[in-house]
Amino acid sequence: MSGAAVEYEPVIGLEIHVQLRTRTKMFCGCELSFGDEPNVHTCPRCLGLPGTLPVVNAQAVHYGIMIGLALGCEIAPRSQFHRKNYFYPDLPKGYQISQYDVPICGPGKLGEVRIHRVHLEEDAAKLVHVGESGRIHGADRSVVDFNRGGTPLAEIVTEPDLHSADEAREWLNLLRTTLRAIGVSDVNMEEGSLRCDANVSVRPLGSDQLGTKTELKNMNSFRFLAQGVKAEIERQTALLRAGEQVQQETLHFDPASGRLTPLRSKEQAHDYRYFPEPDLVPLVVTEAMLERARAELPELPADRAARLERDLGLSGERARELAFRPELGDFYEAALAAGGPQLDAVALANWIPPLVERIGSDADPAGSRVSPSALAALVALVSSRAVSQTAARDVLTLMVQSGDQPATIVEREGLGAIGGDDSGLAQVVAAAIAADPDAAEKVRDGNMKAVGPLVGYVMRETKGRADGGEITRLIREQLGL
Ligand code: ADP
Ligand code: MG
Ligand code: ZN
Repeated sequence: MSGAAVEYEPVIGLEIHVQLRTRTKMFCGCELSFGDEPNVHTCPRCLGLPGTLPVVNAQAVHYGIMIGLALGCEIAPRSQFHRKNYFYPDLPKGYQISQYDVPICGPGKLGEVRIHRVHLEEDAAKLVHVGESGRIHGADRSVVDFNRGGTPLAEIVTEPDLHSADEAREWLNLLRTTLRAIGVSDVNMEEGSLRCDANVSVRPLGSDQLGTKTELKNMNSFRFLAQGVKAEIERQTALLRAGEQVQQETLHFDPASGRLTPLRSKEQAHDYRYFPEPDLVPLVVTEAMLERARAELPELPADRAARLERDLGLSGERARELAFRPELGDFYEAALAAGGPQLDAVALANWIPPLVERIGSDADPAGSRVSPSALAALVALVSSRAVSQTAARDVLTLMVQSGDQPATIVEREGLGAIGGDDSGLAQVVAAAIAADPDAAEKVRDGNMKAVGPLVGYVMRETKGRADGGEITRLIREQLGL
């Protein structure tokens, strides 16, 4: 083999279905449910009986507008519902009411990814393959639960702006966080209220043409999405390297085996025979509806992250960590307020991960025994050097266990910092120097890296209670530096 291998760039676009958290279904008055007994939330309309007429759910439209505004989309003043025709047992009408050429939300952007469109539609019923337990005439059996049929959905379609599996996963997390913050959906992948199809292609790096794409259906967790997309990128890259072509097809990813298997190829693609839904007038969004949706939008996670980074000096990563889990952001900002203007905002932010580590990674600190003001008090003790970093970690552990104030714990456990003239720290430093003359010699010769073992000695002797800066100062002083 000779010559440099061609580098390939992955290109990914996502299609996301979100179940809206309305009280009732998209076109009838049946209540939404999750986990109820099958087929108890049905009526002639969502069962598609002849002669019934759809009525648009105003709350679903309101949520659709909120999503559009949160994603920076243009909201169409007038959009249209269409019938998307196909036969399947989960679709009793023989068509799905969806939007086609004029969706409620046009182009927008979230983070670095452009939104192509957002439209409203109804969910299909749920097919359950009961297998062995439900065999009839020796064959596996499928049953239908119509509770889900007619649930309001928003379908969000991105432009192909993502370029790795991890980027796709992270962006989907930003989308989920945003939708959760505006309260329009439970956005739970396991329960199916957030479902994601990934379109994947690869192209030679630097090319501005799109390669042939495949579509990975229904990735039902963030991990599987990343795994499936990664596997597909590798498969396509290997094909192109071997001089072969990618077939445009729909694939199923099996996370257990890591294998991708074809569901259908483009030749079998549906012709949905779309036509305007004759039983619904066009959907008109008025200025008053826009106004109401705007008024209900909270600060969005991406905006909050930008604010924490800009106004408080947090790193981008830390700011997103807090903003993308609003309960962490809320706790942090409450602690910041309780601590007053002297409190170091960056230092405080650095104490949120250790707190989360101690209360359980999914727990809400508001439900823990540590109050925002107690955390602020701990950070203040560290900043004033009354407690060392190391000792403060032990104090935090005890705060989580007991709910006591940090000062109380420091006093009771004798965890106050050792420093100052009468503390005996100078003697411990002298002992460290005596115990390791080699290290002391190197430090004296200007090699400050050699200070490590000396500091370590003092930390061990003082059980982590000594202040790092003070130790270094005393070492230098005693070595005549
Ligand atoms: P289709 O007609 O096959 O549904 P669309 O043009 O509607 O395709 O695009 C569907 C999704 O696929 C969008 O999210 C879009 O960004 C993405 N997409 C389109 N072409 C490509 C491509 N070549 N590679 C990766 N993603 C793509
Ligand atoms: Mg499509
Ligand atoms: Zn119904």
